[in-house]
Amino acid sequence: MASNERSSVAATEEPSDSEPETALETARRQLARAASSLEIDDAVRERLEHPTAVHEVTIPLERDDGSVDVFTGYRAHHDSVRGPHKGGLRYHPGVTRDECVGLAMWMTWKCAVMDLPFGGAKGGIVVDPKSLSRDEKERLTRRFTQEVRAVIGPTKDIPAPDMGTDPATMGWIMDAYSMQEGETVPGVVTGKPPIVGGSKGREEAPGRSVAIVTRETCKYYDYPLEETTVAVQGFGSVGASAARLLDAWGGTVVAVSDVNGGIYDPDGIDVAAIPSHDEEPEAVTSYAEKTDVTRLSNEELLTLDVDVLAPSAVGNVLTTDNADDIQADIVVEGANGPTTFAADAILEERGIHVIPDILANAGGVTVSYFEWLQDINRRAWPLERVNTELEEEMIAAWDALREEVEARDVTWRNAAYVVALSRIAEAHEVRGLWP
Ligand code: GLU
Repeated sequence: MASNERSSVAATEEPSDSEPETALETARRQLARAASSLEIDDAVRERLEHPTAVHEVTIPLERDDGSVDVFTGYRAHHDSVRGPHKGGLRYHPGVTRDECVGLAMWMTWKCAVMDLPFGGAKGGIVVDPKSLSRDEKERLTRRFTQEVRAVIGPTKDIPAPDMGTDPATMGWIMDAYSMQEGETVPGVVTGKPPIVGGSKGREEAPGRSVAIVTRETCKYYDYPLEETTVAVQGFGSVGASAARLLDAWGGTVVAVSDVNGGIYDPDGIDVAAIPSHDEEPEAVTSYAEKTDVTRLSNEELLTLDVDVLAPSAVGNVLTTDNADDIQADIVVEGANGPTTFAADAILEERGIHVIPDILANAGGVTVSYFEWLQDINRRAWPLERVNTELEEEMIAAWDALREEVEARDVTWRNAAYVVALSRIAEAHEVRGLWP
């Protein structure tokens, strides 16, 4: 490989203050920082700076009116040393090749942090899902599946829901793939509707893991949950589930928001009474109209004086513009990549504990793994088993990070990288380099 050429992508360059940062830049800077404190073979580190492959496809879509529009889709594979590639598929107008690669890298670390036998992948279609009818979304999904059919599969690469996709989308992928294979292949995707092999508890799982690690972190830093205030940005499936569980476990959720804006009540919001953004897109706003909560913007929510802030919507929301104004003592990353590299350094400097996405929202891929096992065995687990095993896996991973935080005096993010990279580097060393 033209190693010098590859290195010119400046994987280890010094972070600059210039923002916004792409997911790939953030992921590479995080990797460089973590690898510098670990004894990782240089060749393995260099290999991990790059995807193994990025598949770009063109997807023609027949609109409901008979016209044809053409869309671009990606599926990025980052690393598969510990098992098949695994990761979400997002439909968003801002999807880029680099974003898919950065998010695929985070999936590799996320699976390793959770000790799952998977590597990392991510894909997306550059499209605003709100601009598609249900039928158009189905046709686009089926054609995308066909275009990437050769590179996905239950032992190769297993997509799952992400921004703009949902269980119905996964059901169409499963059907399109299965029709071409000539047999039903439930294990090709996770996050499917339970009736076709989806796992119970999968939709709630990322939010559940955010809630579990918030609870554990509060306990560790001596914040009794009953006296802890929480602000959650994002009321989609991650934010809404996290908020509801933290509320049920005794915490006080004082602020939530969705894409239309946020609400604040220092006495706590009855989050159980608000449907999630997926269930009812205007729900946070209509709750505000019925009650006397204070309205605030998504930006204002981030700088509220709360104990815990859980950014659980989109990436790049904690930046150098607001990192100095964050008043929470603990940040739990429900979204993928909500904190830029430069903002992370400011939060560290200010003594704010950031629980990284690759642990916090890893409940999603963990229950995806449970789903994949259920599909292989053709046997569904009851919800209690899913939630009990998820709880055990999250506590084990949280504990592994805590040990590194204590032993090395590093941030929670670096601890997560230490745990993940050690496992991945060891696997690379054990397998060796083919041929
Ligand atoms: N999209 C989710 C994530 O970012 C889930 C991935 C999966 O279940 O494969 O973790």
